[in-house]
Amino acid sequence: MVAQDLRGRGIRDARVLAAMSVIPRHQFVPPEYEFHAYDDTPLPIADEQTISQPYIVALMTEALQLTGGERVLEIGTGSGYQTAVLAELDVEIWTVEQSKILAKQSKRRLERLGYESIHFFQSDGTAGLPYEAPFDRILATGSLPEIPGTLLSQLADGGIFVGPVGGWHCQDLVRIVYHTDQSEREVLCQCRFVPLIGEDGWHQ
Ligand code: SAH
Repeated sequence: MVAQDLRGRGIRDARVLAAMSVIPRHQFVPPEYEFHAYDDTPLPIADEQTISQPYIVALMTEALQLTGGERVLEIGTGSGYQTAVLAELDVEIWTVEQSKILAKQSKRRLERLGYESIHFFQSDGTAGLPYEAPFDRILATGSLPEIPGTLLSQLADGGIFVGPVGGWHCQDLVRIVYHTDQSEREVLCQCRFVPLIGEDGWHQ
């Protein structure tokens, strides 16, 4: 998977490739999908959600330009796979998951695998975690109709947001380098993510 689907498709960050080489993705998917765990594809997890496609996880993580020690907010813990990738990169993580089942499962899984430096929250993450801000990086692993201003304002100056923004069915994978005066916005690719349902996300 790492050689063919990640390095082969242009992921260059050696730390990201090394992280994804050591994480047992088969332990993050339901038993019936274990056989496909190293295919470059999203797979169903509990509560009608999905574990993201490995290439997209690598691309998003690379786009965060982590060197270690950063404070990272992740919105949408899901299976915890992306959280594990971040943890391998020696950052401090605040991860928020709305689904009670997934929040419980992923916390237990990541603790069992020995990951530390992760703060778990079960709530609506679309408003961020104002009391824990500022963050150096914010990663949304579900789609947003637009990026809430409250979220961006929780970034430190020069901090980076990465996430899918746009329509319900199709989004731009966006990277914002946040500056209080003028932010830079870049589209990395087109993508299709499950929605972040919440006060500052999609309304159901
Ligand atoms: N990174 C995850 C992908 C999870 S999919 C992985 O690789 O497994 C997106 C996740 O966002 C789902 O688990 C969904 O339950 C969660 N979610 C949806 N709305 C949310 C919200 N408002 N706040 C936090 N999590 C939310």
